Amino acid sequence: MLTEEQTQQIKEQLVKQISENFPEDKRDFAIEQVNSMNSEELENFLKQNQMSGNNEEKCVFCSIISGEIPSYKIGENEKAIAVLEINPISQSHALIIPKEHKGKIDEKEIKELSAEIAKKIKTKFKAKKIELFPSELFNHKVLNILPIYKDETSSSKRKKEVPEELKEIQEILIEEPKEKKPKKEHKEEKKTEVKEPVEKLRLPKRIP
Ligand SMILES: [Zn+2]
Repeated sequence: MLTEEQTQQIKEQLVKQISENFPEDKRDFAIEQVNSMNSEELENFLKQNQMSGNNEEKCVFCSIISGEIPSYKIGENEKAIAVLEINPISQSHALIIPKEHKGKIDEKEIKELSAEIAKKIKTKFKAKKIELFPSELFNHKVLNILPIYKDETSSSKRKKEVPEELKEIQEILIEEPKEKKPKKEHKEEKKTEVKEPVEKLRLPKRIP
């Protein structure tokens, strides 16, 4: 039996495949069909189409890493990549995906990348805190970086994010932190009034 998260992620993958491969007039109908399936129906559908969860060739995360499935990448190191979750629980919910299919998520490099991304998300999106939790699909373990703004948890409802929004979040996160400079200059400089010297100039006249 698929978990709710697995169901959600498989649907994501299917919707993506449909959007890329189906003729336009059949696309919406097919996507609607996929989205209306419950986890049991989805599992049967996968079996019928020989896309069972054990088929590692179809691993969604490996496809993201190879670039077969486009993603919103926000970071990378030797062992993993960081991408935005396209069905996020909260804004800028990200995933750290080990490059190796059976990679471990407690490796030094994975921790480094997740710490770096978590910090960026926390500062740039002003999250209250960041929660890290593992999940897996097709036996490919990933680490979720979930920003908490109110009281979201790993099982909170997911939202289908629009590409424009994801693109915008991606741009904010990959932008180098050059905002530090303007911050220093932020204090308002007092305008030197033009009148002042004129008044001062008048002063001597009044002295006698
Ligand atoms: Zn994989």
